[in-house]
Amino acid sequence: MYDRATRTHALSLLRTGMSLNSVSRQTGIARATIRSWTVRVEPLPHMRPTTCCRCADTPVLPADQAAYVYLLGLYLGDGCLSLSRKGVYVLRIACADAWPGLIDACADAMGKALPNNVWRTQCPGCVAVSSSSKHWRCLFPQHGPGKKHERPITLEPWQRQLVDAHPWEFVRGLFHSDGCRFTNWTERTLASGERRRYEYTRYFFTNRSDDIRRLYSDTLDALGVEWGVLRHSGRELNISVARKPSVALMDAHVGPKY
Ligand SMILES: [Zn+2]
Repeated sequence: MYDRATRTHALSLLRTGMSLNSVSRQTGIARATIRSWTVRVEPLPHMRPTTCCRCADTPVLPADQAAYVYLLGLYLGDGCLSLSRKGVYVLRIACADAWPGLIDACADAMGKALPNNVWRTQCPGCVAVSSSSKHWRCLFPQHGPGKKHERPITLEPWQRQLVDAHPWEFVRGLFHSDGCRFTNWTERTLASGERRRYEYTRYFFTNRSDDIRRLYSDTLDALGVEWGVLRHSGRELNISVARKPSVALMDAHVGPKY
């Protein structure tokens, strides 16, 4: 992998009249490689030595932090990274057909988090939103062998910093992939004998990973949202927000799926 400056420098040496052998000796670049540049100096797309914000010499934070944090929530909830045969990572997030707005929001965040092609594939009942880049692994270091709920999931310090700065984006991303909002109702008889109907809304978040549920509930704590745990067959897989002031906060910042 040689960048454009290295290529141009080698060619400029050739133009001074130096032989291919001399330029090769001076630069340490193979003769055949330099000769190929006399035909085409621009590196092919797949040969471009590119970096991203995280694997640059001095790592920086993603440019669109809110989009990244939302996408991080989606990825931890229901996304997967896989390594293609070309050595490129494919990020894939399945979005239910029922919520077209969320499909657009996911594709939008993916394009902003890492400028790259984003494509959609229709599957039974859902649309898979995907993007390929070798840098998805840099942005999601949680990637590893096996399922997310079978291995520890912790945030890197730089991710923690971003989640602390954009907590609602994180909650929205997690909720959009693994959450649902229910409105139930009940009837009560008042002392006067009158029957009155009461509606109550609940936000549920269900994920099999203890660590991911803890990331969700810790963020709710930081936001002052009260939550509780619903048990399923002895396991605490479901985080519920049911108290009125907390539901009001969730309605203001997250809202129903769309
Ligand atoms: Zn990278």
